[in-house]
Amino acid sequence: MGRLEAYGELEKIYAELERELTVLRPLCRQSGRCCKFKEYGHQLWTTRIELDYLVDRAGPPARGADGVCPYLQGGLCGVRDHRMLGCRIYFCDASYESAMGPLYEKYHRKVKELHARHGISYEYGELLKLLSGGPGAVSFGSAC
Ligand code: SF4
Repeated sequence: MGRLEAYGELEKIYAELERELTVLRPLCRQSGRCCKFKEYGHQLWTTRIELDYLVDRAGPPARGADGVCPYLQGGLCGVRDHRMLGCRIYFCDASYESAMGPLYEKYHRKVKELHARHGISYEYGELLKLLSGGPGAVSFGSAC
């Protein structure tokens, strides 16, 4: 099985998650603050296949500001259709907080299993580090 099949399955996982979120209805104020990692005081972690998929569909990011997601454009996500689980699941809505951890674990497990099913080496790391090419960096591979 090739990357295209794996990407198709990843899109189905994302679609399933979106259906769950439609029921949970967490509130997003679209402030873009959570994409400014340093200022917000958190990190975005992602997996190998999600990052490869994002770069395959949206291209490599332009150089961004320090501690800010390079895909943030004008205060909004510039790659909304292809963003990672962490972006899709995180909301700063206090009423949704208890649902967030279990939801992430559930869908992260599905993405991890996707790697195994398609013989893709599983890697999990902090987005900015992976994009920087620094220690622990993931090299992009989008061969289909
Ligand atoms: S990919 Fe989009 S949603 Fe995720 S951190 Fe970057 S700008 Fe924000």
